[in-house]
Order: sequence, then structure tokens, then C-alpha cells
Amino acid sequence: MAYKIDTDTCVGCGACKDACPVGAISANADGKMVIDPNTCISCGTCAAVCPVGAPVSE
Ligand code: SF4
Ligand code: SF4
Repeated sequence: MAYKIDTDTCVGCGACKDACPVGAISANADGKMVIDPNTCISCGTCAAVCPVGAPVSE
């Protein structure tokens, strides 16, 4: 199970990227964040810091 960011909801603030302990989050061409599922350890930190609830576990 990894986390995934809803790019329609993400506002590109970068808080999750700065908070991720393993560097799994990077910006796509639109400035929205994407999570590398092979790196994500499902710690939930991105979901905790996101102001709009864009990261969700799946
Ligand atoms: S759940 Fe944790 S490891 Fe995975 S992307 Fe979010 S902050 Fe990074
Ligand atoms: S914290 Fe939320 S709104 Fe900000 S870049 Fe990450 S997913 Fe997008």
C-alpha cells in the first residue's frame, strides 16, 4: 500500500515534498506533486501536512 496524490486537489504548495522522509515526492510538469510508489513507505506524513487533503492511501 502506498500513498497517491490527487492532482486535481493538489495546489502545489510543496509541503508534502519537504516533509517526506524518503524523498518519494516530486513535482510533475504542471507543478502538482506525484509520489513514487516504489520509494513511498506509507508513513502518512504527506497526508498529515497537506492543507487540502490531496494525499490518500490506496
Ligand atoms: S506516505 Fe510518507 S513516504 Fe509516502 S510519500 Fe507520503 S510522506 Fe513520503
Ligand atoms: S501538501 Fe498537498 S497541496 Fe501541497 S503539494 Fe503536497 S499534495 Fe499538493
